Amino acid sequence: MARIRATDTKPELTVRRLLHSLGYRFRLHRRDLPGSPDLAFPGRRKIVFVHGCFWHQHRGCRLAYRPKSNTKFWAEKFAANLLRDRRAMRQLRASGWDPLVVWECELADLLRVRRILTSHLQVKAH
Ligand SMILES: [Zn+2]
Repeated sequence: MARIRATDTKPELTVRRLLHSLGYRFRLHRRDLPGSPDLAFPGRRKIVFVHGCFWHQHRGCRLAYRPKSNTKFWAEKFAANLLRDRRAMRQLRASGWDPLVVWECELADLLRVRRILTSHLQVKAH
């Protein structure tokens, strides 16, 4: 089975560019961390995931439609993705990381995403 997402998706690149332009430095896809987070900020103990709304089934989002064919396949796939996401979040928090999810659809409002990201990265993890 293919991985659930490409490594360098467009939404992820958008977030990376935005954070770079703000002067933040980060590590990409650290495999030693639960869920191989898209972006990790080791000094701040912060994590940012950029989730595609379809693959991660963003709740209530118009991009998170369910395909009409192969419904069983998709239902199982989405359930597995959801489980994996939840487990990664739980494990990250348990080891002192503070994860944030940015959804693909939120990138339509970059100013808002910028506010969310800077506030996430400025507050110290407890
Ligand atoms: Zn969405």
